[in-house]
Amino acid sequence: MNLKIPGLLLSLPLSLMSVQAKSQTRPSGEKPNVIIILTDDQGYGDVGFNGCTDIPTPNIDRIAESGVRFTNGYVSYAVCGPSRAGIMTGRYQGRFGFGRNPLVAPRDTLQGLPSSEETMATVLGREGYTSLALGKWHLGAHKSQWPLNRGFDEFFGFLNGGHQYLPELWTLEDISEVRAQFDAYNTRLMKDNGRVEEKEYLTDALSREAVDFIERRVNEPFFIYLAYNAPHTPLQATEKYLSRFDHIKDKKRKTYAAMVSAVDDGVGQVLDKLEELGINENTIVFFLSDNGGPEHHNASDNGSLRDGKGSLYEGGIHVPFAVQWPGHIPAGQVYEKPVISLDMFATAVAYAKATPKNKLDGVNIVPFITGEETGMPHEQLYWRKYDQKAFAIRSGDHKLVKYKSEVEEVYNLADDISEAQSLALSEENHYPELKAAYEQWESELKDPIFLGLMQNKEYTQQNPDRFKLVNPYQPDVLEAKVPEGYELLWSDEFNGEGKPNDEFWADETGFVRNHELQWYQADNANISKGVLTIEGRREEVVNPHYKKRSKNWRKNRVKADYTSACIKTKDKFAFQYGIMEVRARIDTSMGLWPAIWTLGVENQWPANGEVDQMEYYRFEGEAKLLANAAWADAQMQAVWDGVKIPFSQFTEKEQDWADKFHIWKMDWTEDYIRLYLDDRLLNEIDLTRTLNADGTNPFHQPQYILLNMAIGSNGGDPSNTTFPRHYEVDYVRVYQNPSL
Ligand code: CA
Repeated sequence: MNLKIPGLLLSLPLSLMSVQAKSQTRPSGEKPNVIIILTDDQGYGDVGFNGCTDIPTPNIDRIAESGVRFTNGYVSYAVCGPSRAGIMTGRYQGRFGFGRNPLVAPRDTLQGLPSSEETMATVLGREGYTSLALGKWHLGAHKSQWPLNRGFDEFFGFLNGGHQYLPELWTLEDISEVRAQFDAYNTRLMKDNGRVEEKEYLTDALSREAVDFIERRVNEPFFIYLAYNAPHTPLQATEKYLSRFDHIKDKKRKTYAAMVSAVDDGVGQVLDKLEELGINENTIVFFLSDNGGPEHHNASDNGSLRDGKGSLYEGGIHVPFAVQWPGHIPAGQVYEKPVISLDMFATAVAYAKATPKNKLDGVNIVPFITGEETGMPHEQLYWRKYDQKAFAIRSGDHKLVKYKSEVEEVYNLADDISEAQSLALSEENHYPELKAAYEQWESELKDPIFLGLMQNKEYTQQNPDRFKLVNPYQPDVLEAKVPEGYELLWSDEFNGEGKPNDEFWADETGFVRNHELQWYQADNANISKGVLTIEGRREEVVNPHYKKRSKNWRKNRVKADYTSACIKTKDKFAFQYGIMEVRARIDTSMGLWPAIWTLGVENQWPANGEVDQMEYYRFEGEAKLLANAAWADAQMQAVWDGVKIPFSQFTEKEQDWADKFHIWKMDWTEDYIRLYLDDRLLNEIDLTRTLNADGTNPFHQPQYILLNMAIGSNGGDPSNTTFPRHYEVDYVRVYQNPSL
């Protein structure tokens, strides 16, 4: 990952920056950038290129004018979530059971894209693309479903199906404060996996982030999924945009127009940036809406199409759709054969020369647009709404649909795009073949794998703890979640007020190890508000063991300049094999060295065996998180099996990583020790290799637990750090599997 160069560029004056960027532009013919600009609930008739008269969309129209507009462009579902699942996978989402709008269910791994599916970001990522997801995600709220865990390198937006647009309405810190489905509209925005401070109107913020990413990533192929939630309800716009529409008297339509206009400005900023950086001809830009406009809700207009969002008549699934790729797609074209949103994935991977694992339903549409291919991109397009027992299929101009009516209907869309006059279900009207093709396709689909928005109540009844989410910034007040097959052997939740329980913990005192600067003392370990806090202080302690000429560093120091605490379960609690889980918030300031570790009960160090679940310190000048085990060689020196992970890896994805609690876990069996941070495996230690020089295995004996924060030594120089500093431990839990 090349972060240094873009960082430098950003600090240069704008004029110089573009010159530099241009000179570094990749040669044409290389993998093109891909940008999908997706609007939400925008009507077919609400873009200039489809004849809209009251809302100018000059920038969206630029895409159609520089490339092609599709007069028969479809999405694969009539509401948000499933339509997006289709876009993001290039596959009919019914193939993997994404047949409903997902709920905000942050504890449910099944509410969202199943792990069998690869996103466009994952597939393009294998070919060296960096990727950004912006705006509305709606493909799962469980952390395993967040954009950064589904192939994206960056994310700026929100997880659920809609959001407030005005920063003053973002009253909840994050998803952990959500207590009902629609609360999620009110959370602060996320940047990557953390929350972010944002002051701009949401649509403007998304546009700004898109432009910023293009500037930073200009020298590598990129993929941007710019998923505006505008003009989805709630209808909210700023005066800047509202003032453009004094000619619209209907208040709803006026606000809707303002929201579309804000998107249009953003599209203009993105297109301008591509031109300015000279990458216009190396970037494919798609524009479309995720489903038809819900005309009564947001005052959208689907033109002459029947119905709107949710419907399998044209108004629900037939959307404004255009693409530009200057130099590759001739400008100003109109393409009339049916295409579908799934084609974006197939088109992108064709030019990225990427190979998706799953079979795509879309096709590369560029050869069809250029005339290189003369047939139909799709013999048939299909739709199913499982809960409504509704379906549709289009083949050529004919469409078979069963939606509101009890009966099936056939239309010839070439004569009757408004689906006003249903035709006879006859052979002449292709009814039998349409029906057979649909049934064949439907037989390949899965039933929905999760309850959706329509089953919100039912889902909450089945999952009463649906929103019981641990607040990452707060102590965990929920009961321990015992891993399956295990029992809780021992724990300290650090509840109550006062000193650590002396039945569990002993204090270290004085100078102890590694030439560290701090004097350990019991006074610096205290329990309050559900956490153990180890406090590092800048305070002097006279060394009672001082001996001027001693060779022992513990004695030849007159005083300590810092104090801290180390508590340990030595002679009080030890365990052999099991899972140890510690939730903690570490202080990453300069000079500090917090740790979670264990030592074997028998033998001298290092032959007793040391396991460092967490150490944070500076190595070769850089902050690192470590996950180690150590044992002894013939000279009683430590042999390490360790990893040192640059701390920046964590803060890159989560700027406020250090403000949160995290879970460190050791999974220890006779055969291995696996060390995890927030379920990410950091190190696996093979215990067949951890033999001391004398042949004993230190990890086949019980270990006791230590929690401490050292100051100085590996922690670095603390002299410019303000004190006191705090390392907080929420709990220590040890589980064992009784059958092992
Ligand atoms: Ca939508």
